[in-house]
Amino acid sequence: MTSLVNSLRNIRSPAQRLNRQEVWCLLRFDQLDSTIETFWSESKVTSFINVPKNRSKMEMGALSAQGVPAGYKATKNKVEGLPGRHAEQVLCNNFARLLADYKKTPQIVEIFLSDSPCLNASNAENGFPQGCAHKFLQLANSYTTIPSWRIYYEQVYAGNNDREVPNSQQSINLLSGHARIVIGMIDPTLLT
Ligand SMILES: [Zn+2]
Repeated sequence: MTSLVNSLRNIRSPAQRLNRQEVWCLLRFDQLDSTIETFWSESKVTSFINVPKNRSKMEMGALSAQGVPAGYKATKNKVEGLPGRHAEQVLCNNFARLLADYKKTPQIVEIFLSDSPCLNASNAENGFPQGCAHKFLQLANSYTTIPSWRIYYEQVYAGNNDREVPNSQQSINLLSGHARIVIGMIDPTLLT
């Protein structure tokens, strides 16, 4: 079993990240390392056939099962101009299935992120609203029997020329205002 520290070390290694914009996300239930799941953001022009080998099958499944969304044109192996899903969005799309696999209600859901959640940049999808902060609020509000949601990020999401910083701060404030959510930076002792 891979420990949380090792999982974080692995996912943060330069070899893992396809580009600097790529966002990673780890999910853990009840602080059990055996439950760790990994999610990546999808690049803007997404290939749904040539998915990189080091990305999870879950993500591949999520992409290929959807096929080409309405209004987008597929070339040989790409959907041109399709906005990529954010890592948090991929997590939200898979959350119900992960809960079903776990077979009980977690008392603690921990989410570790390279970047703090966006306010409104990710698309509305699968009944979740626009923006990853709003998606997480909906998740917490949908699963009221989960008492503790803990969201940790390595850096505040800044976007191009730091344009997203005020929005990111608003996201953090929104989430920290929820009674069952705590949000803060990743404990530096976990980032060795
Ligand atoms: Zn986002």
